[in-house]
Amino acid sequence: MNKPMYKKVSKVGGITIPSQLRHSLNIPKGTAVEIRTTPDDEIIIKKHIPTCLCCGAADNVKVINEVELCDECAKKFVIGVDTDGNDNER
Ligand SMILES: [Zn+2]
Repeated sequence: MNKPMYKKVSKVGGITIPSQLRHSLNIPKGTAVEIRTTPDDEIIIKKHIPTCLCCGAADNVKVINEVELCDECAKKFVIGVDTDGNDNER
């Protein structure tokens, strides 16, 4: 078990994850984390792995409007939308 770290809960109820920890676990700012509790009143904060809402895949998952979708499923949703971003060279 790691050496415990002590953090105060902020006025708005937040807890800062120490930057050292964020870096070692590769949790960039703005990333969602999973929070669970145990029967022993422990709070588990787990690195959240984006999972496709439709098929449950964990590969090539993108977050679109806060919805996690894999590339394959995302394509089904963006049909008809021009995402090329190409210039109209005429
Ligand atoms: Zn999918």
